[in-house]
Amino acid sequence: MIPDFEVTILGNTSSIPVHGRHHTAQLVRFGQDFLLLDCGEAMQLQARAFKVKVSKINHIFISHLHGDHYYGLIGLLSSYSLAKRTTPLTIFGPRGLDEIITTNFRYSNTKLPYPLHFVETCDDGLNLLLEDKLYKVYSFPLNHRIPTTGFLIREKQGLRSMIKEKLQESKVPLAAIQTLRSGRDFTDQNGKIYKVKEYTHPLPALRTYAYCSDTIFNPELKQYLKNVDLLYHESTFMDDNAERAATTFHCTAKQAAEVAKVGKVKKLLLGHFSSRYLHLEPLLDEAKSVFPNSILSEEGQSYSI
Ligand SMILES: [Zn+2]
Repeated sequence: MIPDFEVTILGNTSSIPVHGRHHTAQLVRFGQDFLLLDCGEAMQLQARAFKVKVSKINHIFISHLHGDHYYGLIGLLSSYSLAKRTTPLTIFGPRGLDEIITTNFRYSNTKLPYPLHFVETCDDGLNLLLEDKLYKVYSFPLNHRIPTTGFLIREKQGLRSMIKEKLQESKVPLAAIQTLRSGRDFTDQNGKIYKVKEYTHPLPALRTYAYCSDTIFNPELKQYLKNVDLLYHESTFMDDNAERAATTFHCTAKQAAEVAKVGKVKKLLLGHFSSRYLHLEPLLDEAKSVFPNSILSEEGQSYSI
């Protein structure tokens, strides 16, 4: 069975939370695993509104230390403490985040009842952060005003499934089944060859999600976007504010679409909208003029990957 792989948007606004939109936070679900990408200040309320069980989150990834991407983190960690969580939690984030957390809890005299691990991210190249039996999470560098990384969640190659008719047709030894399912041909002691191609179904395409939180326009991101099914890319401004986008190290919707286009991703999800825009359709129109398979992220919506 193919595990569910989806992202739920909990917040998609930049700078000031207005127009019913909230600071960046999103939840990626892979099968039974829940990964939190960034944790803006309203994350807990949003999770409650959209019936997301925060207790299931065991890994949190923070892209950078601008407040609109992590001011909800101390609150979430405190709530886990009040809920008497005992499950270990790992936070991946830039240098300094562990100090911010430790300082907060030192001055509030908070003793966490659960083990909290911190893994420092590095904004240099592609780095493997987490490997599960079903997926891997990598960080990759974004070009913003302070050290920032995006995150890539790639499905791993699973075992092949056997063709039932073939199994019924001939008695296939158990050792052969194990070898074939792992993708290798098998030769028995009489020299009979069991070929992967003949005995197993082709593997389904592996799915990948890419998250680009805050970045200046950078088509070179394409090197990290190979075979990406869904790309969330910040699109803070419209094209008439391209200059402002560049000076603040952000992107326009059109530039996000350019990245999607050169990266040859399948679908683009726009987010991190400036508070100056009440209506977002014009941003979508600009993106679509470059990359037709673009959509606006909507808080509370889940997008299948
Ligand atoms: Zn930022």
